[in-house]
Amino acid sequence: MLANAPAHAYPGQCTYCGHCKPCVANLDIAMINKFYDLATMQPEVPATVQSHYELLEKTASACIDCHACESRCPFGVKIAERMKKTVELFGG
Ligand code: SF4
Ligand code: SF4
Repeated sequence: MLANAPAHAYPGQCTYCGHCKPCVANLDIAMINKFYDLATMQPEVPATVQSHYELLEKTASACIDCHACESRCPFGVKIAERMKKTVELFGG
């Protein structure tokens, strides 16, 4: 499942490169974005993706909206906004 990284990227698209580390709240931003993208490729959130997401040590709801990570992202991902959408998608 995690091998399904996009072969190309456009601005605002996460490539899961990890350059945004470290998150102030210790979120694994790349992994969270991966789960979000995998889930939104489907008409409904697959149960496997949901359960993998819930097993993360920190989920997107731990984001404190500080935006400290965004200046380190080479792809212009609006990370804080994405974390909010992720909370809405996965419910936490
Ligand atoms: S905005 Fe959220 S994801 Fe980014 S460093 Fe701050 S807490 Fe972490
Ligand atoms: S948010 Fe940006 S820096 Fe972080 S993993 Fe995705 S593309 Fe890389």
